[in-house]
Amino acid sequence: MDLFEYQARDIFEKHGVPVLAAATATTADEAEKAATTIGGKVVVKAQVKVGGRGKAGGVKLAENPQDAREKAGAILGMDIKGHTVRTVMIAAAAPIEAEYYLSILLDRSNRTFLVMASVSGGMDIEEVAHTAPEKLAKIPVSAVDGISLAKAKEIVAAAAFPADVADQVAQVLLKLWDVFQGEDATLVEVNPLVKTNDGKIIALDGKVTLDENADFRQPDHQSLVDQDAENPLEAAAKEKGLNYVKLDGQVGIIGNGAGLVMSTLDVVAYAGEKHGGVRPANFLDIGGGASAQIMADGLSIILGDADVKSVFVNVFGGITSCDAVASGIVQALELLGSKATKPIVVRLDGNNVVEGRAILAKAAHPLVEQADTMDGAANRAAELAAK
Ligand code: GDP
Ligand code: MN
Repeated sequence: MDLFEYQARDIFEKHGVPVLAAATATTADEAEKAATTIGGKVVVKAQVKVGGRGKAGGVKLAENPQDAREKAGAILGMDIKGHTVRTVMIAAAAPIEAEYYLSILLDRSNRTFLVMASVSGGMDIEEVAHTAPEKLAKIPVSAVDGISLAKAKEIVAAAAFPADVADQVAQVLLKLWDVFQGEDATLVEVNPLVKTNDGKIIALDGKVTLDENADFRQPDHQSLVDQDAENPLEAAAKEKGLNYVKLDGQVGIIGNGAGLVMSTLDVVAYAGEKHGGVRPANFLDIGGGASAQIMADGLSIILGDADVKSVFVNVFGGITSCDAVASGIVQALELLGSKATKPIVVRLDGNNVVEGRAILAKAAHPLVEQADTMDGAANRAAELAAK
């Protein structure tokens, strides 16, 4: 999960990374009040989860609270690369002498963490990385050792930070490592990290990505979820512990195993071409040991999607055999009762397929029809969705 800048700033503050006073506002009125509280010159910053806000006109200096009100009025509602600005952050303005860059990230391809550091930070860091890569130091960090003071000094030296700020930057690196590790982040980026004209080092803009796989041990992170942006079906699925992703088609998909579900999306999209461009409506993997309850949970999410016109249940029986899955489907439909309203095409194969098919045949639910092959089932589900 990507955080907003103000959320990253608050997390930085919690871990002792130097930041400036700030508050959020959703109206020009609130912005003026926040600027009054902070006092002096402020910066009004669009809160959108996309980079390059500065260049898009989403970061503006304001001389006084009245000015902050006007700037906030102009920025709120603005569209930045497809993101509407609903919130601004009002932050104390820093007199900037130099802009640096620091980040810690998960380097998946090299199976390690990586620190990137540059004394040429600011809005053009991508340009620097492209045209003058030698100005961007890249130092691997072992997950076991993390960033010690010695490692921090090594990074500071590699990026050639000036002597007068070297110690401060090393301290900030230690704190940023604390953020990265303590919050289970996969990215912590500060751009710019600034030197003010009285020689202080401050994190002026922060970007943090949290690892959702660690949510179970980070209960506080729940409050950072952007409710406005969350898809309600995905939120409901998450609550039930289902691996569900909403897509934009009409055929609801349920399968067991991520690989099988991915291939199911492909065959449905392919079959859908012959039926007016019908497409899969979602990804849903109910996993290996799919109980009746999980099947019912999955079906109810999918049937609750107004875009869904038909459902394709594609199961390959393994450890959980086809008869268990078939019983699960029958019980799930009993649980759902009149909430089940859309045609369901079921394709079973694998362990105990004969028994599984017999169970569905015997139940003879009016919404359920069986198909022998994956392609046949995809075609039928697409046909039903196109009706
Ligand atoms: P981004 O464009 O989305 O990365 O937004 P930033 O928060 O990094 O702001 C962009 C630029 O605005 C920075 O590189 C600074 O040059 C400038 N800026 C941001 N905050 C301040 C501030 O407090 N004082 C001054 N003078 N400039 C600022
Ligand atoms: Mn920035």
